[in-house]
Amino acid sequence: MKYDYLIVGSGLFGATFAYKARQAGKTCLVIDKRPQLGGNVYCEQVEGINVHKYGAHIFHTSNKEVWDFVNSIVEFNRYTNSPVANYKGGLYNLPFNMNTFNKMWPEVKTPKEARQKIDTQIKQAVEEINKQHAEKGLPPIIPSPIGGGWEGASNLEEQALTLVGKDIFEKLIKEYTEKQWGRKCTELPAFIIRRLPVRLIFDNNYFNDKYQGIPIGGYNKLIEGLLAGVDTMVNTDFFDFKRNYNSDSGLWELESCNLKLETPEIVYCGPIDQYFGFQFGKLDWRTVTFKTRIEDTPNYQGNAVVNYTSHDEPYTRVIEHKHFEMFGQEVYDCPKTVVSEEYSTEYKEGMEPYYPVNNDRNNTLADQYRPLAAQEPNVIFGGRLAEYRYYDMAPIIEKVLNLWK
Ligand code: FAD
Repeated sequence: MKYDYLIVGSGLFGATFAYKARQAGKTCLVIDKRPQLGGNVYCEQVEGINVHKYGAHIFHTSNKEVWDFVNSIVEFNRYTNSPVANYKGGLYNLPFNMNTFNKMWPEVKTPKEARQKIDTQIKQAVEEINKQHAEKGLPPIIPSPIGGGWEGASNLEEQALTLVGKDIFEKLIKEYTEKQWGRKCTELPAFIIRRLPVRLIFDNNYFNDKYQGIPIGGYNKLIEGLLAGVDTMVNTDFFDFKRNYNSDSGLWELESCNLKLETPEIVYCGPIDQYFGFQFGKLDWRTVTFKTRIEDTPNYQGNAVVNYTSHDEPYTRVIEHKHFEMFGQEVYDCPKTVVSEEYSTEYKEGMEPYYPVNNDRNNTLADQYRPLAAQEPNVIFGGRLAEYRYYDMAPIIEKVLNLWK
């Protein structure tokens, strides 16, 4: 079989690439080692609800071209992400805004009062930290010469305290972050949290982007639309093929026990280190595991996303999938609901590689693989695994659209 492109991976990078290639009159074969298409945005239907099998996905962008493009494939709904934090049974709106501050400190009712309260708590925290720094012989935290704020925090805990003060840190950041990273905030580097936006308005919309939503009918509709008319094969691992680049013909020749392929160009969306046989070593990942169950009630938590910010619960978030796509009476027309607890988990062989680990070891290793990728003849390395970079969905689509300009 001969195709203009062999696309390895049917996630948003591969599927968008296939769509644009087809529009340009090119033939593509998309293969994926998973039993279904769609990569991380794939949803499973349970009790009439689209369950985000590989983690909750909320599309958001300020790029009109990207928004118009995805809406030309499938219309998006009006879902607005407004997560809630549960700390020991108390509920707080996120991101930190006037609703959060009034719940935290009922006497705080105006933006001025909120600002004063936070500033007072920051000042107290800085005094406390500087006492400890003096005892340990560390330089003090000092006012930052640019843009206000403070500098000199020696760990994430100090950094967060100098940004929002004690109450918000202790109830909404500390234990949640420790669950996410599996380490104490005092053992995490300060740079992980550069900014903690504080909104002095009553606005629970998590994203600042102009557009957000979920495809009507679910993400599978988006993938089906992108891959309409494109040849696809699931349960097909690229590494089950022997591959050879024939420099005379300029063709990649690939052969597995039941398939022979020829293509002038490969689009590779799998892990970059695996492509090169892990020759410099394996890159590390962070992952999330999910415990998903059906609840015999139409409305379990009243919101798609609830963060659990204390150590009392071992999970970081509970997702109630129906709220991404059902609104008002629709929630009650569907008698059951599906919820997923999310557990931040240390990555081990065989788990889903989700987030790159941007520490010195992995950055150095990725920088060894990237020049090899750049030199590989007629292979485009694209997407989060092949670039070893975290991307939201919209920037992935933007990248592919730009490749075809
Ligand atoms: P993927 O979707 O991972 O696709 C890669 C595909 O390649 C997979 O299907 C894989 O099976 C296949 N593959 C790999 N190796 C091989 C091989 N050897 N042979 C054949 N196939 C192979 N973004 C947002 O904008 N909003 C969100 O709310 C959001 N939430 C997220 C939550 C989680 C838990 C994670 C991990 C990511 C989230 N993202 C979110 C980011 C989003 O998932 C990515 O931007 C998007 O998945 C990138 O698409 P991709 O095609 O690069 O990768």
